[in-house]
Amino acid sequence: MAGTGHLVFGNLIRAIVFDFDGLILDTEEPVYRSWLEVYLAHGEELPFDRWVQIVGSTTAGFNPQSHLEERLGRPLSEEVLERRKGRRTEMILGRTALPGVVEKIEAARDLGMRLGCASSSTQEWVQGHLARLGIVDRFECIKCRDDVAHAKPEPDLYLAVLDCLGLRAAEAIAIEDSPNGIAAAKRAGMRCVAIPNTITAQLDLSHADLVLNSLAELSMAELLERIGSAAG
Ligand SMILES: [Mg+2]
Repeated sequence: MAGTGHLVFGNLIRAIVFDFDGLILDTEEPVYRSWLEVYLAHGEELPFDRWVQIVGSTTAGFNPQSHLEERLGRPLSEEVLERRKGRRTEMILGRTALPGVVEKIEAARDLGMRLGCASSSTQEWVQGHLARLGIVDRFECIKCRDDVAHAKPEPDLYLAVLDCLGLRAAEAIAIEDSPNGIAAAKRAGMRCVAIPNTITAQLDLSHADLVLNSLAELSMAELLERIGSAAG
């Protein structure tokens, strides 16, 4: 199998497609916490059930700035908005890739598999962080919301990565952390492994074919075996 991929239920798995936010790097908690701090400073509650609508997607479903400004009846100052972004960035830059991510990337390459990334964030955001983590050149195809009409949970991002790789959905596996991301991968016809983080652990990830606590939990070979036996 070396140099080609890994056989799962008669399909040669030739590629792994990673989500970015909350899967490769835990940006979800810093983004949430930075907004939570602004809400608390203004004596307001940040509704978690509304917040989770945007995890893995865009702020189209819930815009924390507009929501808070509506609650306060006035716009937030530039100073508050800039400080919020600064706090978010500070918290993210203090983090490295989540456990098992770099090992899985190297293991996939060792198995001759190709790598893609599908993200509802922008190319600038994803490429910048992947470059900082030293792994941007590992990904053959990176598709972001700038590249497609619809972010997750629509399948556009995964379909764009499959098209870029020249593969069918059955030939690639998606790895996600959020319900929006899982829905996007499943709508694209792909098998999906889910790894929750501190934010998405509270959400329903049961639509994934396999849910793990961490990417460090299994070797790549074991992960492929598990998703093969879980797929129905
Ligand atoms: Mg995500």
